[in-house]
Amino acid sequence: KATEEKYTFETEVSRLMKLIINSLYKTREIFLRELISNASDAIDKIRFLSLTDPNALSAAPVLNITIWVDKDNKVLTISDSGIGMTKKQLKDNLGTIAKSGTSEFLSAMEEKKADMNLIGQFGVGFYSVFLVADKVVVTTKNNEDKQYIWESQAVNDFTIAEDPRGNTLGRGTQIKLYLKDDALEFLEDGVLRDLILKYSEFINFPIWLWTKQTQVVEVDETPDENEKKEKKTETIEVPGWELMNTQKPIWSRDPKNVTELEYENFYMSFAKDSNPPIAWTHFKAEGEVDFKAIVYIPSKAPEGLFQKVQDYARNVKLFVKRVFITDEFLDFIPKYLGFIRAIIDADDLPLNVSRETLQEHRTLQLIKKRIIKKCLDLIADLTKDDEKYEKFLSEFGTSLKIGAIEDNSNRKKIAQILKFPSSYKEANSTTLDDYISRMKKGQDKMYFITGGSVEEVQNSPFVEGLVARGFEVLYMVEPIDEMLVQHMPGHGGKMFQNIAKGDFKFGDEDLVESQKLKSKFVKLIDHMQATLIDQVSTRLTTSPCAVVATDWGWTGNMEKIMAAQAF
Ligand code: ADP
Ligand code: MG
Repeated sequence: KATEEKYTFETEVSRLMKLIINSLYKTREIFLRELISNASDAIDKIRFLSLTDPNALSAAPVLNITIWVDKDNKVLTISDSGIGMTKKQLKDNLGTIAKSGTSEFLSAMEEKKADMNLIGQFGVGFYSVFLVADKVVVTTKNNEDKQYIWESQAVNDFTIAEDPRGNTLGRGTQIKLYLKDDALEFLEDGVLRDLILKYSEFINFPIWLWTKQTQVVEVDETPDENEKKEKKTETIEVPGWELMNTQKPIWSRDPKNVTELEYENFYMSFAKDSNPPIAWTHFKAEGEVDFKAIVYIPSKAPEGLFQKVQDYARNVKLFVKRVFITDEFLDFIPKYLGFIRAIIDADDLPLNVSRETLQEHRTLQLIKKRIIKKCLDLIADLTKDDEKYEKFLSEFGTSLKIGAIEDNSNRKKIAQILKFPSSYKEANSTTLDDYISRMKKGQDKMYFITGGSVEEVQNSPFVEGLVARGFEVLYMVEPIDEMLVQHMPGHGGKMFQNIAKGDFKFGDEDLVESQKLKSKFVKLIDHMQATLIDQVSTRLTTSPCAVVATDWGWTGNMEKIMAAQAF
């Protein structure tokens, strides 16, 4: 091969390959999921291009994925008529440029925080082919370049050569896996069929498998005209392409006919999450704007939820009339709802504009508003199930508080679903409305204290005094709570009152109490006033003294937070 060029894998990629090759991971079958998902992505890309370029599809007009086996040579082939790769893309994508996910996946594996099943989430799914193959040949043709062959036996290097046969694919990518001797099960008809069925259910393009199908045929055994014609049947095996998926997107179906399991499986497939979601809503919006959507809440917060700003962009997949448009939005969903996953299929969006222009489009802005509202409704719905809601809050409670801080238009709504631990013993935590319903006669503010933990604050002398008098105190023990009360001064007509701040006073009945105390300890007070000058408080019961912050100053806790640079 005259044009063959040899390249070495980027170091991290090479390390990753070694890890994969030597992996004893039992469910190696996931390589097929990764290849099908890449093929589907590639077809999405060319179909998107074809919206503005009518010639984009002409080299291979039929969009599909085909899979076949060559038992004699122990080769499994997966082929797609997607966008294909130019020589440069081939070299960059499959070997010389390590994505950030490469090292993230490596260290997550080392720290046992991830297993092989999660490889797709780190953006390095392709390399999973080396779980089952010791040689891989990728032939690819992009409209902008010639047809190339990438070949590797893993670990250190790979080669790229111009295909001497010329353009045989038209357009797309064909991946040949030369299976390891211990992976020959993937050549078996039954095994392969089951796997493809499993991983193709939610793929929006036809997936065809070359198989032998059994057919029942009629055989005419009695050509003799005098005898009564008797029809006989026989089963024969006919090789041919068999369609493996129905490709009717779940979101375009009537929710009544979709089972819970289907919703869960669909989520796990498109979100690349190995845990089922905690809740979802599937709805159709009509009127001002027409679209269908499914919004999911994952059961676990992704790692680094608040750091990985980049990744938020991929949480929402936008389709227009079932054609995938983009999942690369910036700020489509506000950051605080960055954990949700949604599929949106809109009817009337312009397709011949750039993604940036699209994002500014009025229709999309309306969709965005509706989606945010639906998310908050979905969360509000979760509050009905205490156990589920506690679970939700432990993963995303901080997100909600950020929402109450940042989202002016929805602050009220969010405030209704926030929960805080409190001195009320009957529950782990309370909503503000429930707190208000238990407020004592004459109490006009919601009392709270901030601190590092419930244990710390419940022993605080301030709390002690109030609880002894029958008041309930909210425990704001998350670092973000201080910011929250600054941005959300009250709820339901009641203001927050930090009981550790200087201006704190009880209602009338306590005035009587404090007069009594004052007269009882008049001598001591006189003495202390002479020494401490007006520093005596009625807030304490058993503790002798406490340090308070001034009205406009930071509390001790805030000082700690600022010092720790948590925000
Ligand atoms: P990811 O799919 O998350 O980007 P992968 O490791 O699965 O990560 O694939 C790496 C890249 O290789 C893809 O982003 C894509 O650019 C390219 N690629 C892989 N398979 C195909 C394919 N069948 N057709 C075109 N490009 C592909
Ligand atoms: Mg992939």
